[in-house]
Amino acid sequence: MDLGIKGKKAIVCASSKGLGLGCAISLAEAGVDLIINSRDPKNLDAAAKLLRSKYQVQVETVVADITTEEGQEAVLAKAESNLDILVTNAGGPPPGQWSDWTRADFISALDANMLTPIALIKAVLPGMIDKGWGRIVNITSQSVKAPIPVLGLSNSARAGLTGYVAGTSRQVAEFGVTINNLQPGVHDTDRIKSLDAHIAKEAGITVSAAKQERRNAIPVKRYGTTEEFGAACAFLCSQYAGFIVGQNILLDGGAINSTM
Ligand code: NAP
Repeated sequence: MDLGIKGKKAIVCASSKGLGLGCAISLAEAGVDLIINSRDPKNLDAAAKLLRSKYQVQVETVVADITTEEGQEAVLAKAESNLDILVTNAGGPPPGQWSDWTRADFISALDANMLTPIALIKAVLPGMIDKGWGRIVNITSQSVKAPIPVLGLSNSARAGLTGYVAGTSRQVAEFGVTINNLQPGVHDTDRIKSLDAHIAKEAGITVSAAKQERRNAIPVKRYGTTEEFGAACAFLCSQYAGFIVGQNILLDGGAINSTM
């Protein structure tokens, strides 16, 4: 399917690996030129090489911590006020226990998973509104719909972003700009490997037993793939998604048991 976005320009934050890279790959497949970002230059270069060689799109890289103001400015500067698509993403906060989380832990989670996407959205909206076209997708989490107790920092920060998007998306929709959130359930990435290790340690079981238990709890009986996730992102960024506004789209293999 031609998504109708060939030649458009996208920023995909935190995209040298995992879900961010999955989104970058699907956008590249649709012919979108990319600005990709992460902190480790080696992984970022490898991702850029893969994208350029396989999809013949332009790929620029920005080595930066996207949760810092300097990082955000560096990524935005590459777009030279000519941006069509923004995919926000950053590493998730660590797991833990409610009694251990300090004010500083909350500030750092809010910075990474709420205030960073909000700052980026605020920076790119005027240009998109002027053009009369824009697509913004935030990678959040299934934890917004069904909180994960050990991820209290993530639950809190992402709920804040979700509230912001619910209102802002409706303020900008008339200008041809859509903002939506993708909520990943368990996808096979490095982040999930480290969460599996945490679960195994807490339960006193092996990592492969912990994985098996988690797979069994998902109706499709497997983890999601970054390809599936990226394809959903590319569709939300397509010409055909102009009527999808302020939505939270759950990709969880049916794991959250609810009617809607
Ligand atoms: P991942 O496999 O660990 O990949 C994270 C990517 O983000 C890497 O490219 C990493 O590169 C980059 N990154 C991390 N922090 C960054 C920062 N501050 N600035 C710039 N780049 C940064 O993680 P993932 O599984 O794709 O998860 C992505 C997001 O989705 C996370 O917020 C996670 O909590 C959330 N999520 C994931 C799942 C899942 O099933 N995978 C489920 C729910 C929610 P560098 O380390 O080199 O910077």
